[in-house]
Amino acid sequence: MYDALTARYTFACPRRERAQVTLSSFRLLERLPGAAHPAVYGVRFDCGCGEEHSGLVSHDDLDWAPLGARAGTFIDLMTSRFSDAATELIDVAASHVKAGEWPWSFYCYPEGRPRPVFPSSFVAVAPGERALGLAVRCPACGGLSVNLVSRSHVDLPFSNDDRIGVVDHVFADDAHFGSGREEQRHTLKRRLR
Ligand SMILES: [Zn+2]
Ligand SMILES: [Zn+2]
Repeated sequence: MYDALTARYTFACPRRERAQVTLSSFRLLERLPGAAHPAVYGVRFDCGCGEEHSGLVSHDDLDWAPLGARAGTFIDLMTSRFSDAATELIDVAASHVKAGEWPWSFYCYPEGRPRPVFPSSFVAVAPGERALGLAVRCPACGGLSVNLVSRSHVDLPFSNDDRIGVVDHVFADDAHFGSGREEQRHTLKRRLR
């Protein structure tokens, strides 16, 4: 589902069988009602075939797989033994967090402060000319913010932009981005220009 080496998710594509896309190719994310353990998210993503498709991602794949939690095993050439890549990658992630670095962060506009976040709090991604518009539902206050960020800020854990653009607007509720409504997505795109 997620390949930690290429930082890509694999989905079905009706044209090419398989689509392999980064987090920043997601356009909409929505937690689906029902399944709670693990929670499942419905996503819309831009596929390499030129179309947009739907897919499903588990909560673990969204938030933990990019940190290497499912990286599997590799052969350590020094010892000729199998080693668990996941343990090593998670150790690296833990040392970042201990040093005060978060895998992902965003600027919460309603609260006026940066906050750590996981991809499961991302609501929408809009490709812009110079930056991506990233709509995030704040895990702390529940408010919605739109940040202007680089692609790697979204795709790579611990690759936080030094400067984040913030759309100066208090978004009323999630109706703006939820459920793949074309019109509302265009509103977000317009705001980014
Ligand atoms: Zn496709
Ligand atoms: Zn907040």
